Amino acid sequence: VAEKPVPVDDPPVPEVHVKVSNRDRLIFPDSDVTKGDLADYYARMAPVVLPWAANRPISLVRCPQGRAKRCFFQKHDAGTFGEHVKHVPIREKDGSVEPYLYIEDADGLVMCVQMGTIEFHGWGSTVADVEKPDRMIFDLDPDEGLGFDLVKKAAEDIKNHLAEIGLVSFPMLSGGKGVHVVVPLKPEAEWPAVKDFSERFARALGEAEPDRYVANMSKAKRKGRIFIDYLRNQRGATAVLPYVARARAGAPVAAPVTWTELRDIDSAHRWGVRDSAELLERANSRALAGWGVADQVLPDL
Ligand code: ATP
Ligand code: MN
Ligand code: MN
Repeated sequence: VAEKPVPVDDPPVPEVHVKVSNRDRLIFPDSDVTKGDLADYYARMAPVVLPWAANRPISLVRCPQGRAKRCFFQKHDAGTFGEHVKHVPIREKDGSVEPYLYIEDADGLVMCVQMGTIEFHGWGSTVADVEKPDRMIFDLDPDEGLGFDLVKKAAEDIKNHLAEIGLVSFPMLSGGKGVHVVVPLKPEAEWPAVKDFSERFARALGEAEPDRYVANMSKAKRKGRIFIDYLRNQRGATAVLPYVARARAGAPVAAPVTWTELRDIDSAHRWGVRDSAELLERANSRALAGWGVADQVLPDL
């Protein structure tokens, strides 16, 4: 029997049926990245973005005239995105029901770019059951000027504390200043329980090491410390999704990494939209296989 040839070429770019207008418009003027470049980035990255971005309520950071101009955060929409962007009705605190956005495929991703989107942020739950998070996130927000070494140390500490209570976690560079520690969950507990757990976990760290950590959002209390932002874990909150571009200087992207490689990385914006080939190769590498996946539930704390 003839052996199948080992594929050596880049994986095929998924077929996209969305027409992107103004492909030459500079979205990242400082990095020379156009709307067309960004659309191509998302089309190419779709196979590794969609496992995280598809089928969960998303919020978009839209900057139709480029990242240096007016940007806005969009949670819902009544239908201006066309057929490739779907809606899931979600009850708000005040009792009203709003059509939240979600996507299913590469067309959905690229349609959002066509509408001026740079960043995709996701709920911590899927449209299958928006009330039951499938992950918990500790978003490490360092005080202005705090070194990345301290952020890495904090992430590693959190990993170890989570491991002590039986939870596996994964690090992601935010593309900005911090690291997100991602704890995959089976969607069993509802939002209040997950928020409560994450808040108590963050507060315990803040109390054990008050010189390093705060669990309080106030910037005044952050002085020289890292805010362990557990508030990503409340119903309606979002966090930037893996491999998503950030509307920041240099066109950086949020990048999953392994705990081992994190030790040798010196910023949260190590990769950018120009690095799609490397990012794809990384995402499909043995080291990152299984990143963000674990069959676990929160223990009693
Ligand atoms: P960094 O590493 O620089 O902190 P980050 O993505 O963690 O990057 P944060 O400012 O810590 O950024 O997180 C803010 C979170 O709040 C984002 O993950 C996003 O989902 C959400 N967010 C951002 N802008 C808005 C907004 N205008 N309204 C509501 N939520 C927002
Ligand atoms: Mn952050
Ligand atoms: Mn934050």
